[in-house]
Amino acid sequence: MKAAPFDYTRARDSAHAVELLAAAEGERFAKIIAGGQSLGPMLNLRLSEPDLLVDVRTCPDLRRYHDDGETILYGAAVTHSEVEDGTVPDPCHGWLSEAARRIAYRAVRNRGTMGGSIVHADPAADWLVILLLLDAEVVILGSEGTRTAALSGFVTGPFSTDLGANEVLVGIRIARRSSHVRYGYRKTAAKVGEFATAFCVALVDPERGESRAVLGAIERPPIVIDDLSHASTATGAEALVNSHVPGIDAPSVRLHAVALRRAVRALEGSGGSG
Ligand SMILES: Cc1cc2nc3c(=O)[nH]c(=O)nc-3n(C[C@H](O)[C@H](O)[C@H](O)COP(=O)(O)OP(=O)(O)OC[C@H]3O[C@@H](n4cnc5c(N)ncnc54)[C@H](O)[C@@H]3O)c2cc1C
Repeated sequence: MKAAPFDYTRARDSAHAVELLAAAEGERFAKIIAGGQSLGPMLNLRLSEPDLLVDVRTCPDLRRYHDDGETILYGAAVTHSEVEDGTVPDPCHGWLSEAARRIAYRAVRNRGTMGGSIVHADPAADWLVILLLLDAEVVILGSEGTRTAALSGFVTGPFSTDLGANEVLVGIRIARRSSHVRYGYRKTAAKVGEFATAFCVALVDPERGESRAVLGAIERPPIVIDDLSHASTATGAEALVNSHVPGIDAPSVRLHAVALRRAVRALEGSGGSG
């Protein structure tokens, strides 16, 4: 199928994108497009039929990063492959870059953006799960100015966020982790480059007093698990999945519990992936 007809315009910067959205309000359905890797298929399937696409992919302010020593603020249009390649700094000592490399395949990573992935809010998406683990913040620009929110509050459901109609996601802020941080990563997918069927990431950073795991690919927003004390045994992990994700069937509980257990066990090893 082909997309329904739409107008297309390229925003000069994020403020211009907000102006264009505000000007269309009430008259035309305007939508931001970044890498088009999620929106493109939705247009072609006519799951979304905007009158106007506002392209932010080349906005200079969304393509930058700012490193203040404690945190890194990525512009929303930084691509997956820029994180993979180390074109932007990695606050996780290389782990973020490794995680980016496991998103889809290179052609998708070259165009897909961190911001687009978050706003699309697919519960199986890699960035959502990884950035929740890192307790990231999002920076949003609207007609009333800029606001900052915790990513955990920004995502309100599967494919749903609290982004207003005239708002643009401008940045994602991640705190630098200490050199003693350990990570666990377990993604199960039918084939390399496909969305996960089970996905769990975990971290322990003793210097920052952080310890948590995040479960994704569960048809609802990713779940944060703070108490990992029983997560590395089969029964403990299944009990945690049952209590955090009530109502899923037994095979799904086992699938997600294996991901949780392996990610948490990797924390006890060398800090690599599970
Ligand atoms: C074959 C294939 C395989 C894939 N596999 C994976 C995978 O394994 N893991 C994974 O995580 N992802 C996967 N993806 C999705 C990919 O990562 C997308 O790039 C990403 O989900 C969306 O980013 P985008 O920049 O392309 O956003 P777009 O498709 O351009 O936009 C997505 C949504 O976000 C909105 N949006 C975009 N940017 C902004 C902004 N700055 N402010 C406000 N709204 C904005 C758009 O309006 C739209 O609603 C896959 C995609 C394809 C095509």
